[in-house]
Amino acid sequence: MNNPSAGPVIAIDGTSGSGKSSTSRGVAERLGLRYLDTGAMFRAMTWWMLEHGVDVNDPRAVASYAGAPEIVSGTDPRRPAIVVGERDVATAIRSDEVNAAVSPVSAVPEVRARLLDLQRAVIGDGGIVVEGRDIGSVVAPDAEVKIYLTADPAARARRRALEEGGADVSATEESLLNRDRIDSGRATAPLVMAEGAAHIDSTDLTLDEVIDRVVALVEQAGAVGDPA
Ligand code: C5P
Repeated sequence: MNNPSAGPVIAIDGTSGSGKSSTSRGVAERLGLRYLDTGAMFRAMTWWMLEHGVDVNDPRAVASYAGAPEIVSGTDPRRPAIVVGERDVATAIRSDEVNAAVSPVSAVPEVRARLLDLQRAVIGDGGIVVEGRDIGSVVAPDAEVKIYLTADPAARARRRALEEGGADVSATEESLLNRDRIDSGRATAPLVMAEGAAHIDSTDLTLDEVIDRVVALVEQAGAVGDPA
């Protein structure tokens, strides 16, 4: 169980490009909580494998290197940071190469076990918004609030392509759907709507409206307030 005196854990899971990062950061800022982007950790692991010439489509090769990269995640929602070894990889982990390789790497149980330990160490006694695919189901099943965030694939692709400075919308949609397919179909910790999660479809909502809804659910759950 989480230590209530340290604050709640808010788990935000959902499909690729559904607005999890912007929502999670916004909620953390509003409520004065820390923020953990677990997708960035899987991306950092993948970036390291590509840098070191590991065949990312060979699960045995990936498994044998899963313990090697030293990954450190920042928890400030205003300045999300991710460092591998000495290198700041915040930009490098968003490349097309990493986008294409991250889901196969993330399906490898040894990768998940390694990152689960790191994620739980960061979560500690709570006071944090954690985003990913398996947060409410596996990483923090006792989270005080669980959200499952989705959006129409076309809307997701449009938003993501815009963020990426005008990338091709249909190629972006294909890449998002491909990741969803692998993430939902893997044997270990697949993307699912966790028990007790509230489903929010962000297709027709602004970012502020989504943040409002999550904050309202946190307040309803009595998960924030005066710790005294
Ligand atoms: O959240 P983001 O899109 O950056 O995640 C990149 C990939 O990392 C996902 O497509 C998924 O394969 C993997 N991931 C995961 N479990 C998490 C977070 C991300 O498998 N908790």
